[in-house]
Amino acid sequence: MMEQLKPCPFCNGEANTCVEVYANRVEIEVGCKVCGFWFTDFAIEGSSFNMLKESEDKLIARWNRRADNEDI
Ligand SMILES: [Zn+2]
Repeated sequence: MMEQLKPCPFCNGEANTCVEVYANRVEIEVGCKVCGFWFTDFAIEGSSFNMLKESEDKLIARWNRRADNEDI
């Protein structure tokens, strides 16, 4: 199950995820649409869909922890 994205820790803007597929790698990004703060992770060529999903979940968890830390 996908974790819900929290708002941006800096500007409280709406966050979203993005997956970009390139020739030899896949970039997974979680970021703010408003101020442009991004977390990026990479998955190498040949990663299974499950591995991609896992990377995305981890990135979202990192984003949400960051949001929690800053939101005091
Ligand atoms: Zn922001």
